[in-house]
Amino acid sequence: MVPSKTPKELHPEWVARLTGGHIHPGVSVAHDLHWDSRQVGPGVAFFALPGSRTHGREFGQQALQAGAAFVVSDLNHPGTVQVTRPERALLAVGRALRDQFRGTVLAVGGSSGKTTTKECLSQGLGWPAPEGNLNNAPGLTRFFFHLEQAEGCVVELGIDRLLEMAELAYLARPDIGVLTSLGAEHLEGLGDLENIVREESWLLQVSPLRLASVQAAELLNLPNLITYGLEAGDFRAEGVEMGLEATRFRFEGKVVHLPYPGVGPVLGAVAALAIARMLDKPLSLTIERLAHLRLPPGRMQRLRLGGIDFIHDAYNANPLSFRAGMAFLQAQPGRKWLVLGRMAELGQEALKHHLEAARLAATVSPNLVFVGPFAKQQAAEAGGTALETIEETVQFLSHRVQPGDLVYLKASRSVGLERLLELWPREN
Ligand code: ATP
Ligand code: MG
Repeated sequence: MVPSKTPKELHPEWVARLTGGHIHPGVSVAHDLHWDSRQVGPGVAFFALPGSRTHGREFGQQALQAGAAFVVSDLNHPGTVQVTRPERALLAVGRALRDQFRGTVLAVGGSSGKTTTKECLSQGLGWPAPEGNLNNAPGLTRFFFHLEQAEGCVVELGIDRLLEMAELAYLARPDIGVLTSLGAEHLEGLGDLENIVREESWLLQVSPLRLASVQAAELLNLPNLITYGLEAGDFRAEGVEMGLEATRFRFEGKVVHLPYPGVGPVLGAVAALAIARMLDKPLSLTIERLAHLRLPPGRMQRLRLGGIDFIHDAYNANPLSFRAGMAFLQAQPGRKWLVLGRMAELGQEALKHHLEAARLAATVSPNLVFVGPFAKQQAAEAGGTALETIEETVQFLSHRVQPGDLVYLKASRSVGLERLLELWPREN
């Protein structure tokens, strides 16, 4: 059955009832919702949330002038559903919208590989998911608002502070939780690995069915875990062949082909196949869909520029995804250049993690280029060259890299390492 497409409506009275809010004159029914006042146009409900630099309440007036149907804010103002805590109100609305969905909700958490896994699940099962990296409470609320009824959907839950997973898990109320990995991430907000394990495990605690990677399961102390992994786990990829352009493995005796290199896509694909099996769906359809997998940019993305092969894996970096990148490179023949930028949000342990990363990189290739704040210490530790800017890096590499070489890019996205690809000379 094709779900009917009805225009969505968000009634201010409904929001007020859910949130214990007070309605001021001048509100009307909304057809969309947003938390960024610049995205608010006619008929949109604006949630005035606290931000790191400013509070959304400062922009309520601007949103109303732009035609907002109503504003959810803690201010006493016409056109407003006034609430005590707008961020709490948003969670209540998000949860109520999620409860209107009758299909299976799959929620993906973990320190690395959430988006990769979300895409494998969504495309492998043919279920809707938010685009890109919308993995916080506002993004999820908007996703559930626009979601049509379907057999299931897939969401990503991303955290960078304590208690956030409890909130997101409350909002998404998953039927199945998938935990991709556990390791150092967002240490500035989360503190240490012990906190990360406790916080991320909330996702599985609230999920009736719990799927965890073997790597994550080893750090968890939870009953009833179903595990997945490479050559290990209840569901496993066997005989993995990692090529530069594609990856092949066997799952329960069937051959699976992925049009991406690397460890992350294999794990994401195994998670999708595991769910297909858990839900009694035919594996062949999921295998067929995974053969056409498309990931968003910067996650093991292969490009060829001026006769050189690049792997752009610099959407994000932390010690876990760094290790996944190195495991892939170990399996590649030929000359490899590693361009390694800063891994952000590692707090006081940043230098230690960067030196460890440098030592690991040196086991993969002697051709190391470190860029950014820890570059000098990394080069002193592991050899290679320390450079300051991306322009210098392009200069340095373009004189040395030969056709047939592989260039791997890894850094947190704040580094903007993909600019190297924009600056790379197209003609030899
Ligand atoms: P974010 O916290 O930015 O949302 P994410 O958890 O969604 O990140 P992805 O965007 O999927 O993660 O991938 C980030 C990096 O982690 C990429 O380099 C990707 O190749 C790598 N990666 C993907 N899957 C895994 C995995 N299972 N384990 C470790 N690293 C992975
Ligand atoms: Mg993500």
